[in-house]
Amino acid sequence: MAKVEGYIEIDAERCKGCGLCINACPVNVIEFSEDFNSKGYHPARYKGEGCIACGFCYLSCPDVCITVFRGARKKSPVNV
Ligand code: SF4
Ligand code: SF4
Repeated sequence: MAKVEGYIEIDAERCKGCGLCINACPVNVIEFSEDFNSKGYHPARYKGEGCIACGFCYLSCPDVCITVFRGARKKSPVNV
């Protein structure tokens, strides 16, 4: 089976740092940023590679901060 490639974008300003997306990711490609957003949270961030576009992070985020893209470029957003 061909490996699905994807990536995500996280709206760091809306993120509350709950970590649910980090726990939901089956390939462990999301982590907390060391930086703070304007609300004082450490937002989640994409590690930069390895996303398989499963959408679990999007589904787990209570604040709808994450957009999942399938493919290497921003051509086919999965959830927008
Ligand atoms: S779409 Fe899936 S693989 Fe990609 S970052 Fe989100 S949970 Fe991880
Ligand atoms: S689930 Fe949403 S609010 Fe929680 S850390 Fe991830 S992006 Fe931030």
